[in-house]
Amino acid sequence: MSNSKNIFNKTVMPVGEMASGAKLTVPVYSYKTDGFVGPSVYIQANMHGAEVQGNAVIFQLLELLKDCNIKGNITLVPYANPVACNHKNGEYTLGRFDPITGVNWNRMYHFDESVIAPFADKFIDATDGDIQQQFKQLMLNEIEQKLEHNIFGLTTGQRIAYQLQRLAHQADLVLDLHTGPISSKHLYCPEYAQASASYFDIPHTILIPNDFDGAMDEATFCPWWYLQQAYEAKGRTFEMGQGIFNKESFTVELGSQEQIDLDVAHQDAMGILSYLQYKGVIDAPNYQPQEMTRYACYLKDYKALYSPMGGMVDYLANFGEPLAAGEPLARILRMDNYGDGDPLHYVALDHPVLPILHFASASVNQGTELYKVFSKFFELNAE
Ligand SMILES: [Zn+2]
Repeated sequence: MSNSKNIFNKTVMPVGEMASGAKLTVPVYSYKTDGFVGPSVYIQANMHGAEVQGNAVIFQLLELLKDCNIKGNITLVPYANPVACNHKNGEYTLGRFDPITGVNWNRMYHFDESVIAPFADKFIDATDGDIQQQFKQLMLNEIEQKLEHNIFGLTTGQRIAYQLQRLAHQADLVLDLHTGPISSKHLYCPEYAQASASYFDIPHTILIPNDFDGAMDEATFCPWWYLQQAYEAKGRTFEMGQGIFNKESFTVELGSQEQIDLDVAHQDAMGILSYLQYKGVIDAPNYQPQEMTRYACYLKDYKALYSPMGGMVDYLANFGEPLAAGEPLARILRMDNYGDGDPLHYVALDHPVLPILHFASASVNQGTELYKVFSKFFELNAE
């Protein structure tokens, strides 16, 4: 039943070596098409070790794409970070930080802003097609330099990140699949790409500014955004999200860590295909976004609530339902105070919030991040 025009390919990409000489590799799957016209896509999952649902979503995407009319190249990478993926301690997967350097695995991607201005100077009068091709090549060359021509070497995490980034830079649209700890589904979306957020079946969107902080989504769209700004400053106007600047990237938070659900993954995959249909990557009009209330919040209003005290937390607030001012998010049990003090402490805020995720364990120290909430939010409407 599969679509005979789709060319499926599987390779194994080396990303490092362990002390014993064991090779670190990640599988790379791709669908290409004969009649290539549409934008290309790169999708990866499991950069953080415990955030495994994206692997199941990639499985479902590969299955559903068999029967899709594909217009643009699609590359999919599960188990993107084999070190983090295998980083267990007792029953738990750790895998959010490189255990040797302490750096967040998703803060190691590369972007050097200083290359932008000279490029815009050199190619100020170039054709649109030339700008697109030359800038993409520049981004790839930067990564190539880092990987292959750096006498001082790279950290384990940088080597993994740059190998993945080399694949991401070849695509127009990039999805980095993550999860929260215990979490609702939410999407990190560049402010300029807000219109696209309504095509995912995800009820919560965080609109992020165009700042680079080392994450995959930023490493993909920031170079193009800075380039567009540089041309604008010289009087040549391009629209972000259009034409040669049809570059978008999202961090897709698929729910909670440490679990996969293949049925939910099927739903998640359909939401991603709805976005790919909207962007012209596939020609499959049956994939349309679900009707749902979608809430958005600017990154500056996406707040962490830190525990005012140590104790055992009973998390009360439901995800995705606006919580009225003064209503408790959680109550904290302090048995040491029982009998001669207050064994229960309620945690509330003085304004309405939308709870998005909470800490994965009931036992917390003073200062542990209890909840993350939209502190100011609004409804996101499809145009
Ligand atoms: Zn993550």
